[in-house]
Amino acid sequence: MRMNDDDLRSGMHAYLRRNHPEICRHWFDRISVLGVEGGVLRLLVDEPVRLKYLQRTCVAPFTEAAQSVTGRLLAVRFIGPDGASPETEPSSDRSSHESPVLRDEQVVLSPDYSFESFVVGPGNRLAHAAAMAVASKLGRAYNPFFVHGGVGLGKTHLLQAICQQVLRQQPTARVSYISCNTFMDAFHECVKAGRMSEFRHRFRNVDLLVIDDIHFLSKHEQTQEEFFHTFNALHQSGRQIVLSSDAAPVEIPDLEERLVSRFNSGLVARVDRPCYETRVSILKAKARLHELEMPEEVPAYIAARIDSNIRELEGALAKVRGLALATGRSIDLELAKEAIGGDPISQGNPQPNIQAILDAVSRYYDVKLTDLLGKRRHKSVALPRQVCMWLARRHTRYSLEEIGGYLGGRDHTTVLHAIRTVDTRQIQDERLKADVDRLQQVLRFVEDQA
Ligand code: ADP
Ligand code: MG
Repeated sequence: MRMNDDDLRSGMHAYLRRNHPEICRHWFDRISVLGVEGGVLRLLVDEPVRLKYLQRTCVAPFTEAAQSVTGRLLAVRFIGPDGASPETEPSSDRSSHESPVLRDEQVVLSPDYSFESFVVGPGNRLAHAAAMAVASKLGRAYNPFFVHGGVGLGKTHLLQAICQQVLRQQPTARVSYISCNTFMDAFHECVKAGRMSEFRHRFRNVDLLVIDDIHFLSKHEQTQEEFFHTFNALHQSGRQIVLSSDAAPVEIPDLEERLVSRFNSGLVARVDRPCYETRVSILKAKARLHELEMPEEVPAYIAARIDSNIRELEGALAKVRGLALATGRSIDLELAKEAIGGDPISQGNPQPNIQAILDAVSRYYDVKLTDLLGKRRHKSVALPRQVCMWLARRHTRYSLEEIGGYLGGRDHTTVLHAIRTVDTRQIQDERLKADVDRLQQVLRFVEDQA
């Protein structure tokens, strides 16, 4: 039986919405079916960043959907507009002796962070306009472009939107988006291995260098020195530099004066907290992106309760969606009230204490408590430790400083970095997302028994 392509596409979409709502995006409508060849269903995706997202996180659910809808044992392959599929990219021929940090540096851009999905309001209008200008006139509008502001206010989103826009307009542009911590790790590794020329080659041969959370350079004198030269090399040859930070250049503690003045030499734009109307618009946009149906009063209610930042808004929306999924009810005001409750953070439940979180994480990942609290930076304990910080931040009322203090006397920037890492990695890494979800279930269970 041969099913027509449209039926296959809409059948799969319906299946995914039912069974894997968390991966669904409204633009799945734009994926088209190229046909089945030798047991492989080929799907055409219009944008490289979307292609990567699908390839990275969606192969298994799409395969399941294709098999369920057709009743055939199909494999799924996503194909880009140029006919390329990410698996066929020549990634394996990169020299194997290359530093792992340099190899893994390409933090994958999230297709959710585009200009189309960015809602403009009074708090971010200037930053947004400047970002658009930078993206369309690389090196010629504002160089450097420096955006700063509090956590969860859209800095990373804007930075990634610039990259995506540039890649869309000039697919061959050399774009490097990297977090400041990864940049520092790469630097230290290359210093240790005596491979500085590789490092310089990597960061000085780009058309656009975007470094997220540049405030982490604070106190790292050696890296600041190297970054100063990277900056100059790029700037002098008219290449674009874009930076984000949680504070204005002068307010970053222990940042060399010459860097402060370089950062101030282009455009410095601040993002502020969104006003009520913008919060409502953002919630509506996020609901659309995730294909959530809800009456007007729901975003209005959430926006009235939560005014801190956009990440918190998204957290509230996720709770609402979670409750709707778990109970099979449709989203309405009553459900939203139940989901986020009177208090946006804790719902009157006793909050799990940090110790309960540590215990749960230690059991789950099979790492010793002393390791979680200790100084080791090995991956096997670093990730569980970051998950602890993330859970503590989300489920307790402790401040960043308190959480850092509790977890082996780390400072608040380390905690902030951990939270951001877990946030971004959850988007890219299904496994981590499942681990975090599971731990949250476990912790609620612990709470119930208490
Ligand atoms: P920051 O880097 O400033 O901490 P992010 O860029 O990570 O913040 O934003 C946190 C979340 O809020 C992201 O999911 C992002 O998509 C969303 N967000 C922030 N600002 C906006 C906006 N103006 N419109 C739509 N979504 C936004
Ligand atoms: Mg960020």
